[in-house]
Amino acid sequence: MSKVKSFAGGAHPSGNKDLSSGAAVVRLPAPEVVTVPLCQHLGAPSRPVVKPGDEVKRGSVIGEQNGFISLPTHSPVNGKVLRVENAPMPHMRSGPAVVIKTESEDGGEVYEPVPDWRNADISLIVNRIKEAGVCGMGGASFPTYVKLSPPEGVKIDTLIINGVECEPYLTADHRLMLERADDLITGMNILARVLGVTDPCIGIEVNKPDAIELLEKKGAKVIRLKVQYPQGAEKQLIDAAVGREVPAGGLPLNVGVVVQNVGTCVAVTEAVCKGMPCIRRITTVSGMGVNSPGNFNVCVGTPVSTLIDAAGGYKGDVRRLISGGPMMGMAMFTDAAPVTKGTSGILALVPAEVRDVVEGPCIRCGKCVDVCPLRLCASVIATASEYGKWEDAEKAGALNCMACGTCSYVCPAGRYLVHHIKRAQNEIRALARAREA
Ligand code: SF4
Ligand code: SF4
Repeated sequence: MSKVKSFAGGAHPSGNKDLSSGAAVVRLPAPEVVTVPLCQHLGAPSRPVVKPGDEVKRGSVIGEQNGFISLPTHSPVNGKVLRVENAPMPHMRSGPAVVIKTESEDGGEVYEPVPDWRNADISLIVNRIKEAGVCGMGGASFPTYVKLSPPEGVKIDTLIINGVECEPYLTADHRLMLERADDLITGMNILARVLGVTDPCIGIEVNKPDAIELLEKKGAKVIRLKVQYPQGAEKQLIDAAVGREVPAGGLPLNVGVVVQNVGTCVAVTEAVCKGMPCIRRITTVSGMGVNSPGNFNVCVGTPVSTLIDAAGGYKGDVRRLISGGPMMGMAMFTDAAPVTKGTSGILALVPAEVRDVVEGPCIRCGKCVDVCPLRLCASVIATASEYGKWEDAEKAGALNCMACGTCSYVCPAGRYLVHHIKRAQNEIRALARAREA
């Protein structure tokens, strides 16, 4: 058995994964109306190519790619376009979306499968992954094909598949590893072939022993990781798994590594081997604010309220609705927002699960510095931000912060450290844009 690995810093928030980890994935039918966001991936939103009244097929393109860091968007159903409008989103107040009345979910348009991917042209595989709209399914939603297209001269020698799922409550990736292990391994091998990597590995925290055992039994190389937040952040995963440090402001490819989520591997298999665009995902619905927490396979565009109903409806005094995990997720203001390719979970939390604190002054305990996995001094950046000293915040490394929330989680004074740091990041970037204009 391999040694358990980890990184320096981090914290140990309560996992609360037992609420849903034993619940097998339930496939939900498409709802009567889907609201398909055109901004499900990082980068420029897709450009709509349909209008009200148009008939669409399941898998047909409804938004075309709009730049290098962008992806096409597909209809998850056969139906008729009702509207193209701005709609509430789980990760932002609102964004462009295509609203479709569902007629059925059978058949539809798929791409030509590439079953012989072991011998197929690499550019054909990368193009299929792009055409199918595959992006990082762990929540970051970065277009996958871009990660498979390193700049000239950059050699990738390591592929790490991210099965960590370190955010509390979330169990979608755990269930996917148990229920789609073969597709996961196929997707990993497709990605490895594209990158020219011979020995890909999967990083999994040791709180998922069943997934580790199953994947090893199927021949995958598994790196056992300590249960520690944020073990699944790319830089920490690379540090823990292969001992390489991604420089501040750098990318994994700077140290010869590509990281892809387990759900992304399954989406790659669907796209390459079945020609299926990325129109469904597995999402956890959990928290003490729902009656029956579980894991659901849903169409993108499904309203969050439909997922809540599938989990038995709301229970008790729901204080907060979150898209994603409690550490890095976004608070939602409405459950009318739709599921996107990046929606790893929906949490309905009651007061006992929410840390409602009044922000107090810093007591200089140093805990935020001890836990920061990037060795940033969160209190210094946050203070500079509070006083509007953007240059000081930048000098202290504000732009390197990945907003993992570990510092805020441990701060005994309840300081809204991540909030202040994010504000500094926004201001610094806005100033830089103004200088360039
Ligand atoms: S949110 Fe930023 S400053 Fe705070 S622990 Fe994470 S990386 Fe460090
Ligand atoms: S953890 Fe909070 S109280 Fe302690 S030094 Fe950091 S900001 Fe100050």
